[in-house]
Amino acid sequence: MSNDTKLPWYQRTYRWGQTNLAELDPVRYDADWWRAQWKRTHVQGVIINAGGIVAYYPSRYPLQHRALYLGERDLYGEIVAAARADGLSVLARMDSNRADEHFYMEHPGWFAIDAEGHPYRAGELYVSCVNSPYYREYLPGVLREIIERSHPDGLTDNSWSGLERNRICYCDYCVRKFRAATGMALPQSHDWDSDVYKQWIQWNYACRVEVWELNNRTTQEVGGHDCLWIGMNSGNIVTQSERFRDYKALCERTEIIMLDSQYRTSTAGFQSNSDMGKLIHGLLGWEKQIPESTALYGAGQPTFRLASKPEPEVRMWALEGFAGGIHPWWHHISAYHEDRRQYRTAEPFFTWHQANEQFLVNRTPIANVGVVWTQRNVDFYGRDAAEERVAQSYRGVINALIRARIPYVPVHVDHIARDSDQLDVLILPNIGAMSDEQCAQVRHFVAQGKGLIASSESSCYDEWGNPRSDFALADLFGVHATNAHHGSLGESDPSWETWSRHTYLRLVPELRAQIDGPQIGTEPPITAERHPVLAGFEETDILPFGGRIEVVDAVPTAQVLASFVPSFPIYPPETSWMRYPTSTLPALVLNTPYTGCRVAYLPADIDRCFGRDNLPDHATLLANLVRWALAEHDVLRVDGPGLIDCQFYRQADRLILHLVNLTNVGTWRAPLHELISVGPLHVRLRLQEGVAAHAARLLVADSAVPISLNDGWLTFAVPTVTDHEVVVVS
Ligand SMILES: [Zn+2]
Repeated sequence: MSNDTKLPWYQRTYRWGQTNLAELDPVRYDADWWRAQWKRTHVQGVIINAGGIVAYYPSRYPLQHRALYLGERDLYGEIVAAARADGLSVLARMDSNRADEHFYMEHPGWFAIDAEGHPYRAGELYVSCVNSPYYREYLPGVLREIIERSHPDGLTDNSWSGLERNRICYCDYCVRKFRAATGMALPQSHDWDSDVYKQWIQWNYACRVEVWELNNRTTQEVGGHDCLWIGMNSGNIVTQSERFRDYKALCERTEIIMLDSQYRTSTAGFQSNSDMGKLIHGLLGWEKQIPESTALYGAGQPTFRLASKPEPEVRMWALEGFAGGIHPWWHHISAYHEDRRQYRTAEPFFTWHQANEQFLVNRTPIANVGVVWTQRNVDFYGRDAAEERVAQSYRGVINALIRARIPYVPVHVDHIARDSDQLDVLILPNIGAMSDEQCAQVRHFVAQGKGLIASSESSCYDEWGNPRSDFALADLFGVHATNAHHGSLGESDPSWETWSRHTYLRLVPELRAQIDGPQIGTEPPITAERHPVLAGFEETDILPFGGRIEVVDAVPTAQVLASFVPSFPIYPPETSWMRYPTSTLPALVLNTPYTGCRVAYLPADIDRCFGRDNLPDHATLLANLVRWALAEHDVLRVDGPGLIDCQFYRQADRLILHLVNLTNVGTWRAPLHELISVGPLHVRLRLQEGVAAHAARLLVADSAVPISLNDGWLTFAVPTVTDHEVVVVS
């Protein structure tokens, strides 16, 4: 499939390599050795440094800084020629948003400045303004020159989107352009409550979309229809927001996403890579490709550009990418290394990818749980604390689902109607900022008798982050807001969420009357039969909490399954007793606004707590809620030990299941030192219409396993998983 040269390069090129040239490389680039490495790793395309901050060809633009010792040599062009001789796709790589002092001196007006007129710096370099002739005239000229010299298939750009959100550019171009667009002067400060600042945020996104479209018009005009300019984008929505890159808008304007997300963080884990692959495919389409730059050097914290990253760490990051529909792209910094171990890292998983590529493309997820996200919520609800207000809640939900082996897909809030046929349950992990129209989509979904789980301040704000007097989805949640809360978000208001105080959730069969004043003694254990969402907690009447709870009034028809135990001291031990063992504050509410639907609302933000604190009780409760909301419509059951990320797909008349073994990494931090096998895993897949299940083949073990069919479920065992296994049923 990938060798079909009738397809454009962005559809047929799956595996990429990048030797990211350092300035010294013109005197030490070993062309023969790298060509051999391209072959060993089965890459089909290469990304070659062309211009921007440093040029690797003799440009007619004198201000484009040439690499040291380059002289009149065209190292970039030589590598392009070698790649073409080897039949590879070629992307010319730019790094365009900064320039050196010489350039700045010649065109000071093209660079971003602060309110006092001082230029913004990035290290030794100066940051060019996206609205200046640097981006609008000079760079298009450079793109034209590169295409005319060497005819690359397309162009990437490492850092294309200009000044980040935390700095406001006051250059003449920005002043005039913002006034023309909005009639207003630029904001004086970062004030999320001011209308001018909100307009500035949206205007900045639009300016980056303009750059994207301008660059593509330029490259397509000179290089033809398929000569795309595709920048690079992050694997983190909060980062995309901080750089004004609207993922949805960009995916609507491109054929491929070059994903610059090179390594796992201990916070987000390897699983964030399969999640990001699914999230981007949800915007881009599952028929398109997402190559991902994978650091073979010691990227992370701390970073070592010239040392080799431990091989298992690289491998697991890449395998989680495969599980999310991402293709591999190896990345070395500089062309010469004394730590040669990194040259051995890519070959095994690139070889496996080549051998099995037919199973890794053109498939769609089988997952009926949708986790809703929106970049606008990151901006106008998350504001400057998006990690705590947005990312932790989302991460808590997806980690709980992965832990419970429940397949899910990220769903953009504006795609709820588009995707609703595939979904039985929607989850709103503290989606604070939602428009009336988005709320209507959620309501329509639930009215079809489907499931909904929502937490915290979901729907409490409009799409600009302006607070509403009540939840827009109050009718679904079965609660009304009081606009009060306990607990905090962020260091600005630590409240009781500190070392000195702790809180709990009380699992109650029904809401009790508030008890005034301190209580003596303990509550008798609750023996009444518990709701299925509390399964596994039979031996406890309380759960640790430690988060923020919205104070809400539940409607009489709603069912309250847990209440809040207010804070009391941790230290000294003598003081650690519940001053108020019970309260009337609902922490978990179930509601049935429409016949057949199942809605759970969590005033207590256990999703955020799990994302932050990793307590198993919070994950178990979240998974119980999802299973209850699914009402037996689950599609996958995997039994056996370990932490396994299960990604389930359909590809024409086949089923494909990725099992990624994260057991090794759940107990330690990055980087991963060693892989430990788990198994056997007993797998049950719900049979899908049009799939004839004759055999199950394990692509990593390279063997077949016996299957059996029962009641619409297909059952088999996977004996052992070391790093990952991919099962193909056909
Ligand atoms: Zn500017």
